[in-house]
Amino acid sequence: MLVVMESSASPDMVAHVCREIEKMGLRAHPIQGTQSTAIEVTGNGFPVDPNGILTQPGVKDIVHLTQPYKLVSRQLYPNDTVIEIRDVSIGGGELVVMAGPCSVESREQCMTIAERVAKSGAKVFRGGAFKPRTSPYSFQGLGEEGLKILAEVRDRFNLLIVTEAIDTETIDMVADYTDIIQIGSRNMQNFSLLRKVGRKKNPVLIKRGMSATVEEFLMAAEYIMAEGNHNVILCERGVRTFADHTRNTLDLSVVPAVKQISHLPIIVDPSHGTGIRNKVLPMSRAAVAVGADGLLVEVHHDPTGAFSDAAQSISPEMFDQLMQEVRGIAGVLGRMGP
Ligand code: PEP
Ligand code: MN
Repeated sequence: MLVVMESSASPDMVAHVCREIEKMGLRAHPIQGTQSTAIEVTGNGFPVDPNGILTQPGVKDIVHLTQPYKLVSRQLYPNDTVIEIRDVSIGGGELVVMAGPCSVESREQCMTIAERVAKSGAKVFRGGAFKPRTSPYSFQGLGEEGLKILAEVRDRFNLLIVTEAIDTETIDMVADYTDIIQIGSRNMQNFSLLRKVGRKKNPVLIKRGMSATVEEFLMAAEYIMAEGNHNVILCERGVRTFADHTRNTLDLSVVPAVKQISHLPIIVDPSHGTGIRNKVLPMSRAAVAVGADGLLVEVHHDPTGAFSDAAQSISPEMFDQLMQEVRGIAGVLGRMGP
């Protein structure tokens, strides 16, 4: 439900209506437009009598949204969301590339890879300190020691850091070290984790669940935004299909589909999306051409020796080639970077 205020409504009137909405046990999200303010109301899992709100001073109308999406929707926010983190803008037309190993393995490993990817033009360094592994016997990540290594990478190479939080127990620690918190595909519908990350200040990168529809994907982002964190970046990383020539099927048509419904930035992960080193470059080209706001790429200085996801990790040389090619494609499309 959207409460549309008169263009003459004062900030006090808007604040008063927000208080009235909250008194009803709902949440109010004021949206400042160029002419007037609207207030999106969430939390109404029960019928709400609109008359109590309609009679408040300054209220013009109440609009019931036709889509299940609210805060993620372009109906509410027609303009693209641009997420600014230090000197990097995500979603503003610039192609932002995030690169690094699947897992943080050691200080030397991260420094070696970070130096190379920074030189090639990556703006964000990725690496998992907490790893969601299929087998409990596989490498689970270095934990806090890994987060400290990532913080050192940030200071030394002026790269932003994105790393995954896998549970509600460790998310506070992850948030203290990283710029962007990643929510992995296995956790896309872990609603308590989504709620908790929604109460953090860090921007969030949420990866599409491996069998999630567009609606489920956007609703996961809605959970985060409903808690007050509007800095959400979506990430397509491939879905499970019958096709077995790649690890997952990279669903690139989701990029224009999401952009039609939502104002949130969406990036593409061609590494998990293909699972195969020599498919990462061609699918990166395609992802940029289809309008992705960025890429998330796994790079390792010794790809075959990587502790996790070795088969899809590309070398720094391959990454440099990838950057040159996607830069050319971005240029043709009138985009900046990477
Ligand atoms: C990752 O980015 O390393 C990862 C585990 O990704 P996903 O959640 O997409 O499998
Ligand atoms: Mn990985």
